[in-house]
Amino acid sequence: MSNFRFKALEVAQTRHAVPVAAPTERVGDFFGSYTFNSEVMRALLSPEAYLKVTEAINTNGQIDRNIADEVAGAMKSWATSKGATHYTHWFQPLTGETAEKHDAFFDITVEGKAVEKFKGSALVQQEPDASSFPNGGLRNTFEARGYTGWDPSSPAFLMDNGAGGKTLCIPSVFISYTGEALDYKTPLLKALNALDKAATAVCQYFDRNITKVTPTLGPEQEYFVVDRALFYARPDLVLAGRTVFGHAPARGQQLEDHYFGSIPPRVNAFMVDFEFESMKLGMPVRTRHNEVAPGQFEVAPTFEEVNLAVDHNALLMDLMEKISEKHNLKVLFHEKPFAGVNGSGKHNNWSMGTNTGVNLLAPSTKPKESLRFLTFLVNVVKAVHDNADLLRASIASAGNEHRLGANEAPPAIVSVFLGEALTQTLNDLETKSEVTVNKGDNVYYKLGLNRIPSLMRDNTDRNRTSPFAFTGNKFEFRAVGSSANSASTMTVLNAIVADQLHKFKFDLDARLARGEKKELAIVDILKDYYANSKRILFEGNGYSDEWVEEAANRGLSNIKSSPEALGVFVQPESLALFERTGVMNHAEVESRYEIELEKYIKNVQIESRVMGDLAMNHVVSTALKYQNKLAETARNLVELGMTAEAEPIKDILREISTRVIVIKKGVEAMIESRKKANNVTDTRERAKLYATEVKNHFDPIRYEVDKLEEVVDDEDWPLVKYRELLFVK
Ligand code: ADP
Ligand code: MG
Repeated sequence: MSNFRFKALEVAQTRHAVPVAAPTERVGDFFGSYTFNSEVMRALLSPEAYLKVTEAINTNGQIDRNIADEVAGAMKSWATSKGATHYTHWFQPLTGETAEKHDAFFDITVEGKAVEKFKGSALVQQEPDASSFPNGGLRNTFEARGYTGWDPSSPAFLMDNGAGGKTLCIPSVFISYTGEALDYKTPLLKALNALDKAATAVCQYFDRNITKVTPTLGPEQEYFVVDRALFYARPDLVLAGRTVFGHAPARGQQLEDHYFGSIPPRVNAFMVDFEFESMKLGMPVRTRHNEVAPGQFEVAPTFEEVNLAVDHNALLMDLMEKISEKHNLKVLFHEKPFAGVNGSGKHNNWSMGTNTGVNLLAPSTKPKESLRFLTFLVNVVKAVHDNADLLRASIASAGNEHRLGANEAPPAIVSVFLGEALTQTLNDLETKSEVTVNKGDNVYYKLGLNRIPSLMRDNTDRNRTSPFAFTGNKFEFRAVGSSANSASTMTVLNAIVADQLHKFKFDLDARLARGEKKELAIVDILKDYYANSKRILFEGNGYSDEWVEEAANRGLSNIKSSPEALGVFVQPESLALFERTGVMNHAEVESRYEIELEKYIKNVQIESRVMGDLAMNHVVSTALKYQNKLAETARNLVELGMTAEAEPIKDILREISTRVIVIKKGVEAMIESRKKANNVTDTRERAKLYATEVKNHFDPIRYEVDKLEEVVDDEDWPLVKYRELLFVK
C-alpha cells in the first residue's frame, strides 16, 4: 500500500474542519470595509473631487489629472492605514484568470530616503508586461505595447497577500496602445453603455423621468470541493481541472442520499471563511448547499450592476481559491470535473433597472407599466431569437462543451422559457383583432392590458431545464459555464438587446411619424415581433430527446462543438452588430475569436496528453503488474492440479489483456491525431481537428480504463477513486 493514492487518502482522512474566527461585529460594521467605496471617498476627498469622480462613474466620463492626483493620494493613505504596502492594476485578460502586477507605494532613493511613488498618473494608467497576455494578433497589427486603465465604476479594494501585508487592487481595463480591447471588461463597459442608451430611449415613450438604465446581474456560482491531498494525487485534476478517468460510484441513489445531509463541517468552515472575506470586500454573498451532486455547492450573491457583479464574481473565484488552501481543500470551477455526476454552471440572472427604481422586467398591475414590461420582455425574446447563435458562441469553451450537447449533457439549443401565464398573455395579444380607439376610450382597456395578472410574478413555474428562463422579474441564463468570466456572455446579451431596442425605436418612430396612436403602434410591433420569434419559446423538458427533434423541426440551431460555435463571432452579421452597437470593431472580434480557439486547443491538448500519460504510466502499468499476480496464482493452481479453478482467473487475465491492447492502440492513435492537428497552421482548422479527431479518442480510451478500475485490485489502483474524491468530511 505504498502508492500515492493511499498516502493522500491517509492525509485526507485525518483532517478536520479548520476553525475560523467568525466575525464578532455585525455585517453592517465590516461589509465593504476593504473597499475604497463612495463612503470612504466622501470622507477623504474634497467635495469637488468627490463630485467629479461620482460624475465620471455615472456618465463613464474622464477624470482630470489633478483630480486623479487627489484620488490617488486619498487611496494611498486609506490603503496604507489599513496595512497595504503595494498597489496593482487588477484586470481580466482573455486568458480567463485575473492578472496583477504589484508595485510598492514607496521607492527608496540612493540616499536611502523613502519617496512616495503613487501619483494620479499611476492610478489612471499602468503598463504591464503586455507580451505575456494573448492578443490574437492584435498587437502585431497595431502596436507592441498595451496598458491598463483605471475603471472608477468598480471600487478599488484590498487583498491580503498571504504574508501579512495587503495590496491595493485597482480594477482596470486592459487595452493595446492604439486602444483595442485586450480584456473582458472593455467591450463589456461598451455594451452596458449601449444598452443604457437604447433602453433609456425606449423608456422615454413611457416615462420621461427615466434617464438611465442599468443592467443588473446576479451570478449563481456552482463549484465542487475536494480534499487538497487527493486533488494533488490526481494529475488530471491538477493539469486539466477535470478527471479524465474514474468510475462513477453506484450511480444515483448513493449520491443523492448523501446529498440531502447537511454541509460537511470542513466545507462549512471554508464557506464561513470566504463569506466573511467576501463581505469585507463589499461582495453581497450568501452561501448555500447545492442540491445536485456530492461535493458540489453553490454561492449566490445579491445582484448588482453588471460591471460590478462581473468583477465581484472574478474576485470571488480568486478568493475561494486562496481561502480553500487554508482549509486544505481545493475548489473545482470546471464545468464537468466528474463524468456521470452533474456538472457546474454559472447561472447569470439578468435584468435592467432604471434611475427611478423600476425593474424593467418586473410585471406590474398598472396597465401603462404592463405595456412597458411587455415591450422589454418581447424585445429580449426577439433579441435572443435573432441572435441565438451569437449567445451560444458567448458561452463556448472546452469545459462547457461537456455541459452542452455532450453525452450526459442537455442539448446545446438556445431556447427561452416564459411560463404559462406569460405565454398565455402574449398569445392573447397576438390573436387580438385590430383595435380601434375612439375619443374617451381607455386604450389599455381596449387592448386588454388592464387585466394582466400580477400573479405572473408568483406564478412562474420553475423550469430547471431551460437554458434561458424568465424567473418572475429577471431572466436566468443558465447555460453559462461555471469557470467562465461572465463578461463574455454579458457583453453579447447586453449588445444584442441594445441592438434590438434600437430597432424597436426605429420601427415605432416610423409608425408615430405616420400618425399612429402610440399604444396601438407599440402593441402592433410587439405582435409582429412575437409572431416572428416565438419558435424559440419552449416550456417542456429541455433535456429530452423529443426536444432535440422538435427544435430541429423548428429550425433552431444545436451547435455542439465549441470551435463551430465560436465561428459565429466572426460571421458578417455578428461583426456588423458589434460595430453598430460600438462594442467591438472587426479586428477586436477577430482577435478574440483567435484567442478563444487557441484556448480551446490548449485545453483539449492538455487533456489528451494527461490522458495518454495516465493511461500508459499509471493504468496500463498497474494492470500489467496485477496481471502478473493473477498469472502466478493461476500457475500455482494448475501446479496443484486445480485446472478448473484456474479458469476464471484466466478469464480475468484475458479481459485485462484485451483492454490493455485497446488502450494502447487508442493512445497511439490519439498521439497521431495530435501530431496531425499540430501540423496544421490555420487555427480554425486545428481547433476543428482537436474537437473531432483528437477528442474522438477520449471516450473509447476512458471506457476501457474505467472497466479496468473495476477489475484491478483496489489496493493496486493508482488513481484516487470517485467515491474517495467526492465525499469530503
Ligand atoms: P432563485 O429562486 O433562483 O434562487 P433568487 O431570487 O434567490 O432566485 O435569485 C437568484 C439570483 O438572482 C440572485 O443572485 C439574485 O440576486 C438575482 N436577482 C434577483 N433579482 C435580480 C434582478 N432584478 N437582476 C439581476 N439579478 C437578480
Ligand atoms: Mg436560480
